[in-house]
Amino acid sequence: MAFEGLSERLQHVMNRIRGKGKVTEADVKEMMREVRLALLEADVNFKVVKDFIKRVSERAVGQEVMKSLTPGQQVIKVVKEELTALMGGEQSKIAVAKKPPTVVMMVGLQGAGKTTTTGKLANLLRKRHNRKPLLVAADVYRPAAIKQLETLGKQLNVPVFSLGEHANPVEIAKQALERAKEEHYDYVLIDTAGRLHVDEALMDELKQMKEAVKPDEIFLVVDAMTGQDAVNVAQSFHEQLGITGVILTKLDGDTRGGAALSIRAVTGAPIKFAGLGEKLDALEPFHPERMASRILGMGDVLTLIEKAQAAVDEEKAKELEQKMRTATFTLDDFLDQLGQVRKLGPLDEILKMLPGANKIKGLDSIQVDEKQIARVEAIIRSMTKEEKMHPEIINGSRKKRIAKGSGTTVQEVNRLLKQFDDMKKMMKMMTNMPKGKKKGFRFP
Ligand code: GDP
Repeated sequence: MAFEGLSERLQHVMNRIRGKGKVTEADVKEMMREVRLALLEADVNFKVVKDFIKRVSERAVGQEVMKSLTPGQQVIKVVKEELTALMGGEQSKIAVAKKPPTVVMMVGLQGAGKTTTTGKLANLLRKRHNRKPLLVAADVYRPAAIKQLETLGKQLNVPVFSLGEHANPVEIAKQALERAKEEHYDYVLIDTAGRLHVDEALMDELKQMKEAVKPDEIFLVVDAMTGQDAVNVAQSFHEQLGITGVILTKLDGDTRGGAALSIRAVTGAPIKFAGLGEKLDALEPFHPERMASRILGMGDVLTLIEKAQAAVDEEKAKELEQKMRTATFTLDDFLDQLGQVRKLGPLDEILKMLPGANKIKGLDSIQVDEKQIARVEAIIRSMTKEEKMHPEIINGSRKKRIAKGSGTTVQEVNRLLKQFDDMKKMMKMMTNMPKGKKKGFRFP
């Protein structure tokens, strides 16, 4: 999980200041010393740290905090606002050309995740924004890159334009653009050639391509796990090519977070997307404010809601609500719901998006056991239709049969039946609640 160490340390500092009815300059000074150390340890660029501390300190001993009735909380608000500003403030969205197609050049060093991210971006544009993307295989130097993009295209059902590995990349890009215009694509995503290092030949070729296709976006793909190296790479690409945005990959494995916190401040280029896993749907728009909120343990409910909206079938949700209201929720529906929840991603990641999750002791060590969920699914699948509709008919011998069929035990079957029963009782209670009271029901 990204930012683990930093998040823990900052939250520790914030918790101490939170309840304070009076914040003195000495308090701020001491707090800033710890924040500074935490940021440096997270591998944030030292100059960025220095500026950040200066800005927060100035504001924290200023009027807005000192005069407030809850100075402790005001300091936290200042830290959150400055963290947000550090990562770019407002969310920076992908461009939309006045006249389609919007042309996007994907650039970066080998291994950063450029080809995978190009596929992920096509997937996101198509699924969430309902756009029609064309993938372009112009990485003719890395031997397997073209094949890899073609495979991704097949998986995603997005067409890939390729002229093989002997063609000139600039020529490939030009012809792809022509094709996109003729066939009315909305986005052209060009997977350009990577190199092991930033060198002149690479930059020359990218500059020629930029000249030829006049891209609306040039996205630099960098590996967040490489920390300050990623920042240096970004700086040199920006100086030489003029990038319009950064996509940080492998944020899922980056426990420190130094690149995410420094790149914008050092290069001036906004982070537009973040890669959070190897799967093709593991790319999220980068929201500085939500990220700051997550770092400070305030949760990220908005992303959670968006994920849910993308994963959950609206018709089904309505149907479910109706069933809950009329208390006709069956084990089949339960199975359905489990499936939908699993689509959201690994459950321990989801839990961490809830506000206050950091205060739940031991959550870090909770490994939501995905296998356990698979077992629950297997149990329900081993039931007959009638059993699923009327679980009360499940007697001892039926339980034995179900346990055998699902490769589980009678105890596990019992546990599930009990949980389901409790859930139904709770639904009944909620649906019977008078309206006024229901409004007050908040999660969590
Ligand atoms: P390229 O040389 O820059 O085109 O790199 P690739 O697209 O081939 O990616 C290199 C490796 O990084 C592959 O194994 C990808 O699955 C992996 N990768 C890419 N993005 C992410 C990410 O966001 N998270 C994780 N964990 N792995 C990623």
